[in-house]
Amino acid sequence: MSRFSPIIESFLNTTRESAMSFDPATEVQDFLAFGEFGGVNPSITDSSTYTFLNPEKMEELFDHEIEGCFLYSRHVNPSAKYLADALARMEGGEAAQVMGSGMAAIACTLMQLCSAGDHIVSSRTIYGGSYALMKNLLPRWGITTSFVDATDLDKVRAAITDTTKAIYVETLSNPLLEVNDIKELAALAREHDLKLVVDNTFTPMIFSPLKQGADIVVHSLTKFINGTSDCIGGAVIAGKEFIASLMDINCGPSMLLGPVLDSFRASSILKNLHSLHIRMKKHGENAMFLSKHLKEKGLDIHYPGLPDHPGHALMNATRNDSYGFGGILTLDAGNVERAGQLMNLMQQRKVGYLAVSLGYFKTLFSAPGHSTSSEIPDEEQKAMGLTDGLIRISIGLDNEIHRTAVTIDGCLKDAGLI
Ligand code: PLP
Repeated sequence: MSRFSPIIESFLNTTRESAMSFDPATEVQDFLAFGEFGGVNPSITDSSTYTFLNPEKMEELFDHEIEGCFLYSRHVNPSAKYLADALARMEGGEAAQVMGSGMAAIACTLMQLCSAGDHIVSSRTIYGGSYALMKNLLPRWGITTSFVDATDLDKVRAAITDTTKAIYVETLSNPLLEVNDIKELAALAREHDLKLVVDNTFTPMIFSPLKQGADIVVHSLTKFINGTSDCIGGAVIAGKEFIASLMDINCGPSMLLGPVLDSFRASSILKNLHSLHIRMKKHGENAMFLSKHLKEKGLDIHYPGLPDHPGHALMNATRNDSYGFGGILTLDAGNVERAGQLMNLMQQRKVGYLAVSLGYFKTLFSAPGHSTSSEIPDEEQKAMGLTDGLIRISIGLDNEIHRTAVTIDGCLKDAGLI
């Protein structure tokens, strides 16, 4: 006899026509998980441990994974598994593991790929925490990293050594918004038998790196995917074998370092994931409007949706085209004092919050050189073009972006920028 009610059975047995081509939003929409009593949301598992019918079954699970059987919530819990399965579908991957933060996802991935003596080639323009992990922490376990301009494939190729195990990039980099050519980087990684790890935090749904040949995608769920700035979370999406290796009870970093995502949070992030496609479109629409508007005022604006952005053509050719060019733009105010003055005014006049992070429904802004990228030494910031006066703006879901633009104009005037 089926363990499901007739209505759930009918859902499960109905096949829908598949989309002609891969669409992340359709994949998320088609992800169905029912609650214990047929609820439209899966039940939240409020348990750290799980019963077994007999000792033999428990022993069997310690030997190998058994579909639908759970052991202990640091390994995986059902609520986390629902979110992981939905994210795997969104990225077009075989499997996923969710974790307590984006940094946990990145650290566990790199620790699983590399051992003492191994080497990583990383883009030099990445989130400051990821940079600090590779530059300062991983060397303590004998793992070293060369940081290069990853938009220049020759530089990436030249940095590869006999001990290199992985290439690490962000699809759209934090904070300089460089666009990386995932297809070309994946080909280079294959040529040298390396794994290409891509942080897709800035561009969920916009880019599908696994579909372009990347081996592993990592996300900070804290940003756009959750979208409500109320929790920290992360995810790794990859082949089944790699995900199983992360969770291995004897030597997997996610099992042994233990950065689990709580089941209540996993459940709330899953609900937010279902509106991600609409939010990404709106963030992109607002960012495009503001970028054009501010550019016309003669300001130094970087946004990959603008034709003069160095990565515009590449992004246009490689993105999933219904989701825009992302919700982040940068404005160079010239120096740190001007940047501070402008951000103060924007906060006082309710454009948004002076805060780190991004992907929130309200606008957030900060000067990365003095905050989220401060881990990167000054001379390296200079070399990569990260200036003192650069402001990163994560545009919110403002319904009247024209009105926001008028308020920003007033702030720019009073800060002496126009
Ligand atoms: N990756 C990127 C691109 C980020 O911007 C961040 C945080 O700002 C992270 C990873 C780290 O994520 P978390 O704060 O969830 O650990």
